[in-house]
Amino acid sequence: MLPEIERLLLLQDRDKKARSLRGELKTVPLERKSLEEKLSAAKQLSQDTHHRQRAAEVEQARLENEIRSRKEQIAKYETQKMQTRKNEEYQALNHSIAHVRGEISGIEDRQLQLMETLDELKPQVAEADRAAAAAAELVQRQLTDLEKKSEQLTTQLAELDASREKFTASLDEDLLDDYKRLFTTKNEAVVALRNEVCSGCHMKVTVATVTAVKARKSIVHCEQCNRILYPD
Ligand SMILES: [Zn+2]
Repeated sequence: MLPEIERLLLLQDRDKKARSLRGELKTVPLERKSLEEKLSAAKQLSQDTHHRQRAAEVEQARLENEIRSRKEQIAKYETQKMQTRKNEEYQALNHSIAHVRGEISGIEDRQLQLMETLDELKPQVAEADRAAAAAAELVQRQLTDLEKKSEQLTTQLAELDASREKFTASLDEDLLDDYKRLFTTKNEAVVALRNEVCSGCHMKVTVATVTAVKARKSIVHCEQCNRILYPD
């Protein structure tokens, strides 16, 4: 094979590795963000469950107070009943007492529902706390792994970049420019010619091109895509 082609293929191999490393590095911030979102969602769920529990407890205390004040009201009516001598007033007080008792009974129903809610919430709170703690641990581990991976990729890339000159040093500048342009725009600059077909654009090349490539004496481009061809 033409020595330039050999050098270009080595360079292309290096450049492909570097491109792939850069691609992987690019995904690191996104991965980090997605992990942090996972953690914050688990924390949020745990907080929400705690808030619901707290709200139910506050409501429970409020209902307790409501019952207490209504019982005091009933006690007042009872006292008034004992003091009154008018039958009409007596009946009205009885009526009021019955009404307040009805209210108490309604509040007690709500208390029962609230107790059921609190009973249901208790395991949910425990589960959300457990899930949040597990997520924190897992995400922390994954973040550490991700940082490690990112560091490794950065090191590998730095090493590859440092070695690039070794690959380009002996190449003609115009050829190198050609190569760079093709590698950037067409993904691959140097491709094999297989059965008279360019493996870059998959088009059949002319007989003259096939002959020139096989002669291994000069740099030959595919007449369709302009990529540099080498004999397979
Ligand atoms: Zn081609």
